[in-house]
This record gives sequence, structure tokens and C-alpha cells, in this order.
Amino acid sequence: MPEKFPADLTTLRRRLLTREVTSTMVTRALLERIAVLDERLGAYLLVDGEGALAGAAAADERLDAGTPAGPLDGIPLALKDILSTRGRRTTCGSRMLEHFVPAYDATVVERLHAAGAVVLGKLNMDEFAMGSSTENSAFKPTRNPWAPDRVPGGSSGGSAAAVAAGLCAAALGSDTGGSIRQPASFCGVVGMKPTYGRVSRYGLVAFASSLDQLGPVTRTVSDAALLLGVMAGHDPRDSTSVNTPVPDYVAALGLPLEGLAIGVPREYFIDGMEDDVRQAVQAAIDFCAGRGARVEEVSLPHTEYAVAAYYLIATAEASSNLARYDGVKYGLRESGGENLLDMYLDTRSQGFGPEVKRRIMLGTYALSAGYYDAYYRKAQQVRTLVSRDFARVFERVDLLMAPVTPTVAFRLGEKIDDPLQMYLNDILTIPVNLAGLPAISVPCGFSAAGLPVGLQIIGRPFAEETILAAARCYEEAHDWVERRPEL
Ligand code: GLN
Repeated sequence: MPEKFPADLTTLRRRLLTREVTSTMVTRALLERIAVLDERLGAYLLVDGEGALAGAAAADERLDAGTPAGPLDGIPLALKDILSTRGRRTTCGSRMLEHFVPAYDATVVERLHAAGAVVLGKLNMDEFAMGSSTENSAFKPTRNPWAPDRVPGGSSGGSAAAVAAGLCAAALGSDTGGSIRQPASFCGVVGMKPTYGRVSRYGLVAFASSLDQLGPVTRTVSDAALLLGVMAGHDPRDSTSVNTPVPDYVAALGLPLEGLAIGVPREYFIDGMEDDVRQAVQAAIDFCAGRGARVEEVSLPHTEYAVAAYYLIATAEASSNLARYDGVKYGLRESGGENLLDMYLDTRSQGFGPEVKRRIMLGTYALSAGYYDAYYRKAQQVRTLVSRDFARVFERVDLLMAPVTPTVAFRLGEKIDDPLQMYLNDILTIPVNLAGLPAISVPCGFSAAGLPVGLQIIGRPFAEETILAAARCYEEAHDWVERRPEL
């Protein structure tokens, strides 16, 4: 039997500070657990045992001296492999970057180090974060810890699976159209996408820059508050990062549900939604009403157009962002041919997987002169309408509550040959990205087959505190986070 399931981040922090445990002990135990369990799960792309143990030893010295570096001192975390790590391979799930070793750390990685965190390794993901199942990873699929024949969701599938299986205390993910919330929901963990601009994107490999945002993937809501507090803040190296003070998210956790107005968007309870999902989410909303929240149905009328708009805007931005992978400056270089054009063609043909190629083609088409007005401009107009829907309901309510996905985790192979079905899975997460809003997925039950269901809580821009407080109130009164997958 591998080392036992690790404590959550908040508990671990307390035990480290009281020296009940050392960072070296915890880090060793996790590395052992990864060695035993991850072959089957496939959550990690890189395990940095040496680096982690060196980090743990340094943290123990500080903790022994009573001078912790910051709120995460000695805590072993893991990073989605979309984050640039100095001297450590960063693949973004792609052959294109299979051997790429960055020269610098992403801002969030710097912040984690400054707070004392120990980095265990890099986590699996869909290639360039394009996907909803982690099956698009160029290296291997990740399996859902609750059911090995099911996907963990994506694109941060490695992050959610690693947290759910106790292979790190917490992880970082990125969310462009749902990639933190959907895998969190599928794996029964907490995942938060902050407001666009709240967390620096510097050193995050770009997919769709107007939508990408980093966030925490954790076992509990308190852990999410703690980790977000370290990640968030202004960064002059990301021009879209916002220069407003970072509140004390942990302190905000005590706020009550009483008196909050909660909207339930009618359009989010779509046909084809599984009954188990509908019932678990409805029960969570009823709980909030029982705690004194005022619950009302609201309408977000343009929801049905969001997926189409997203798959034009995100692909258009991706076609531009991914133009840099041409074999010249970094990453893969292939050439069987004679000239520069052959090198571009060979490099891009061999370096990108089928989903990435599909998106580059779709995005290039949407941006091309003859089609720009019909597709790209129209999609941007829809984006404005989706944002206005939210702005209108947030004049009346403080939060929105809804499911994260229409179904629980699906089977490996089930949707991989049908891109449209895969895209439709994102229907309830994408509108939030288009509007740049913060949202969380918090576990709210299990299906009859024992698969986790997530509750999505969406807030106004920069209302992370309200979201976290409501999620915490709910979590505290339920025992979902106590359940463990059998591994
Ligand atoms: N599943 C969505 C997509 O494939 C979202 C991905 C993401 O958020 N990175 O684009």
C-alpha cells in the first residue's frame, strides 16, 4: 500500500508550522505515492524528485528556524505543464515542445517559490490546452481516479487527477474555456478560474490570450483561497494584469450565505443534462436557500451562441499565437526538404497533433479577409451580448449557481472522434470566459455510478471573495471532500 492520502494544504500548513511533520517527510511520501500510483493514472509528465527534495530541505531549515518564507513554506505542489519553469522541461502536452527547457519561470511560479512552495513536477494536459479530456496530450492520456475507464476532463486533467488521487497537496491549472472547472468537477476537487486579469499570464504558454487565466486546483475551498492569495496580483510583465489590491481571501471565508441573492440561469439546465447532475446541483442550491440566501431564476438569453463564438475566437487567437512554432527559434525543428518553407511545413506537420491542426485551420479561416466579417467579427459581437447578459443579471443577484458540465466524466475514447460532441461539453463553462468573470467548481455530490458532480458558482468581476465564501459555507456542511477514490 502506498503512503497514505496526504492532508489538504491548509492542514498541512498547520502541521508544518508546528513541526508535527517536516517538508522532507511529506515530500518523500508524495514522491513515493507518485511512484506507486501514477503509472496507472498518468497525471505527471515530469517528476522532479531531486528538485523537490532540495526545496523541502531548504524549507525545513527555514521552518526549524521559525522564519517561514511565506504561506506555502514546505508545501509540495505540482504545475500544469503549460507553465514555464526555468531549467525544467515545459512541453504543454505537445511534441513541438517535447525537449523545450525554458530560461525563465512564469510569474506565478516565482510567486510560489517566494512563498516557499516545493514543486513536485509538471502535470499532463491536452496539447496546448485544447481539449476537454486530456486525451489530446501528445504523450499519454490521464485517467480519472474515481474510474480508470473514464477521462479526468481537460485540459487541466493532470492537475485535477493528481489532486483527487492525493499525488500533490494542490496544483495549478489554466482555464480558457473551462479547463480548470470541468476537470475539477469530473474529479471531485475544487477548481477556480479567477477574473481575467487577476493572475499574471506571464510565462503561461499562450492558447487564446483574451480568455486564458490561471487558477488553483485544490481539495478544499480554504485551500483555493490560500493558493489564490499567493498567485494573484499585478505584474507589469502582463499588460492585462490588473493593478488592484489582492484581498485576504482566507479571511473572507467566514462571510455567511444569509442575505445573498443567488440567480439560477434557466439556460444552464439544458436538455440532455443527466438527472444525477441536475439533482445534485439543485440540492446544493436548495441548501443555500435554507441558509437564508434569496434564490431566483434568471435568464442569460445568449448562452446558446457562446460555444460557437468561443470556437471562433479561441481558434483565431490560437492560430496567431501558435504561428511562433516554426522550427526557427525554439521547440521542434524538422526538415526533410531543401528550403525554409519545407522546414516550416515539416516542423508544423510533425510537431502538432490533429486537434491543434484543426484549430489552427479553423482560426486561420475565420480571420481570412473574405470571411472575417461573417465569422470573427460576428463572434466578437456575440461575445459582447454574452457579457451583457451577465452584467444585466448581476444588477439583481450577487452570485449565479449552475452545473459545470451537463454530464459526469465520460469514457476514454467516447468523444475523441467527434470534435463537436467534445466542444459541446464546454457549454456551461465557456460563457464565463467570454465575459472574463470569476467562477469556481466545488464538489456537490456523486452520481449513482459513484462519479463526482460539481457545482459552479459564478460572480461579478473581482468578486472572488463572495464566491469563495459561498462555496465554503456549502462545503463546510457536507462531507464530499472527505471521500477518497479507491486506488
Ligand atoms: N475544452 C475547451 C477547449 O478545448 C477549453 C480548454 C481550456 O480551457 N483550455 O478549448
